[in-house]
Amino acid sequence: PSAFDHVSEAPPDALFGLMAKYRADEAPQKVDLGIGAYRDDDGKPWVLPVVRKAEQLLRDDPEANHEYLPIAGLAKLTSAAQKLVLGADSPAILEKRAATFQTISGTGALHLGSLFLAKFYQTPEQSRPVLISDPTWANHVQIFGNVGLKTDTYPYWNKATRGLNLDGMLGRLREAPEGSIVLLHACAHNPTGVDPTKDEWKQIAEVMKEKKLFPFFDTAYQGFASGDLAHDAWAIRYFVEQGFELVVAESFAKNFGLYGERAGCFHFVGAPAPNAAEITKKVASQLAILQRSEISNPPAYGAKIASLCLNDPTLFAEWEDNLRTMSGRIIEMRKALYDKLVELKTPGDWTHIINQIGMFSFTGLTPAQVDKMIGEHHIYLTKNGRISMAGLNTKNIQYVAEAIHKVVT
Ligand code: PMP
Repeated sequence: PSAFDHVSEAPPDALFGLMAKYRADEAPQKVDLGIGAYRDDDGKPWVLPVVRKAEQLLRDDPEANHEYLPIAGLAKLTSAAQKLVLGADSPAILEKRAATFQTISGTGALHLGSLFLAKFYQTPEQSRPVLISDPTWANHVQIFGNVGLKTDTYPYWNKATRGLNLDGMLGRLREAPEGSIVLLHACAHNPTGVDPTKDEWKQIAEVMKEKKLFPFFDTAYQGFASGDLAHDAWAIRYFVEQGFELVVAESFAKNFGLYGERAGCFHFVGAPAPNAAEITKKVASQLAILQRSEISNPPAYGAKIASLCLNDPTLFAEWEDNLRTMSGRIIEMRKALYDKLVELKTPGDWTHIINQIGMFSFTGLTPAQVDKMIGEHHIYLTKNGRISMAGLNTKNIQYVAEAIHKVVT
């Protein structure tokens, strides 16, 4: 008899299941609004021109090889990534209280961070939960749960305004057990596309300081959201400036289009204190042990590409330009979808589509309407009404707008 008789069948991953359904659909007019990956105006994956250049440089380098990277990853990448997120003149970097490990993209950074916190921040018996926005990226809850951390939610989405439920969020943070970990999306909140304003971030920071809450930032869209790297990192830098001890999970999947290469970083930022550099060094030594036992060392190819782009001023400028191309096209698609819905006189207020930011928009479509979008119109989106703006283009936008019009009327 098998030792695994008791194993029940888990449901398939909802998003990857949706992608499989889309691929199997033979309708020529089908549209994929599920994917969290950038597409160009022809609906095709886009290799960033700057990434193509970096790849050529790698191919031409006679010294290039396939050796292991160090445990902490490619040093040139981790130092550049630190500056990218925290700002080159960040006090955390100058005071040597930032430690960075290259990880398996953003997911790996979230995992390394949660593993570290489970081991060193609190014991499972303690009742402090990890507070996660409701809703959030589907993977967050299981990543924290897998390392034995308890999770709970804070309100985020205001259904009525299709914006941020700031009062609900602050209220929940105020009543959280002191020291709870709070997962925050640095920008381009997934799935809602709703970010706090600077003033709202300041209020969030104030409550978190009061309740000694621990910020865990997830930044998967820096530069991709607004096209401006500093703007998209503002919240993290503000929290560092405010003296928080915090951690950051950073992904290079979207902003470099390096999805499958799994490039990312985990950052620890120690609290400003006279012995902060010493503490950070000790933390880094423990992170090295966790990293070694989990993955030994991170993947090299994507890291080398990102590192070339981040460290060469000419390539960096070209990367910023590529970021503006991606974010600009997405912002244009928001405007176009909004204009079409207004033109069609689709019932309801659709301004949230232009107010939201990043890859995704929470449309407010109900599960029944989503079923119709898929079943009747071959337009694929997640059950919660989230659409990937990157799946829209000048060729399918009219069709999508008309379908939305039909399912809501
Ligand atoms: N966090 C959020 C909010 C995301 O949307 C994503 C990508 N979908 C990630 C983290 C990490 O993705 P990856 O592991 O591909 O970097």
